[in-house]
Amino acid sequence: MRQLAVAGLMALLPLNVAAEELCPGQRVDATPDGRLLGHISYAQARMTDLAPAPAGFALSGRCLVRPEVAADLARLLAAAALSPEVKGRIRAVSCYRSVSHQRHVFCSKIGPRKAARDAVERARFVGPPGYSEHATGYALDFGTRPSPGCADTNACFARTAAGRWLIQHASEYGFELSFPAGNGQGVSYEPWHWRWVGSSATAPGAAAARALFARARASYPAAPMVNDNPARSLLPVPGFQSLPK
Ligand SMILES: [Zn+2]
Repeated sequence: MRQLAVAGLMALLPLNVAAEELCPGQRVDATPDGRLLGHISYAQARMTDLAPAPAGFALSGRCLVRPEVAADLARLLAAAALSPEVKGRIRAVSCYRSVSHQRHVFCSKIGPRKAARDAVERARFVGPPGYSEHATGYALDFGTRPSPGCADTNACFARTAAGRWLIQHASEYGFELSFPAGNGQGVSYEPWHWRWVGSSATAPGAAAARALFARARASYPAAPMVNDNPARSLLPVPGFQSLPK
């Protein structure tokens, strides 16, 4: 059935556009607006444009981001360290990902008895290669340790101490939530995934980041205070300030 959905989508595409095989057996191409399965395309940052995140922040491997992101991350973590509730608990699950790594992340969990049956379903939770903010060096997935019974990259992160602190404070350090609850992009609610756009338009590096994410910000604005479950609403959070546009 899902395969038919992909085939149906392809039938809408111009005949002169060759379908791209995203993963083995998963052929789908961008829609006329340039998006692929709802996701916006992003170029891969050069390694020389990246810097390591603060030491001890990554849960495994290394966390690479743009230098201006690393600087604000250091400020964010220093501020979080002043809160006994979250001190030392905010960590990174995933930061910069190359397009080839993104392809592995996207494709390796498609198939019978895997996380997704096909690329359409997978794209609700992960950007296809070439269409992920992680390739830009401006985005990262936060996590928390010790984990209070909430797996990484799960909506329950919004209700952890770390998740609540980020929702309340991350914008002060230039981060905004890329995929808020109910976003019009068709991507699942991802309270762990934040992109950096600078705490003000004139912050060093902010202009480039805001230009890169201009379409995403205009079409699918961040709304971190909107929760996926109204019965457990996060509103109101005192002191929250949305990013100036
Ligand atoms: Zn992410």
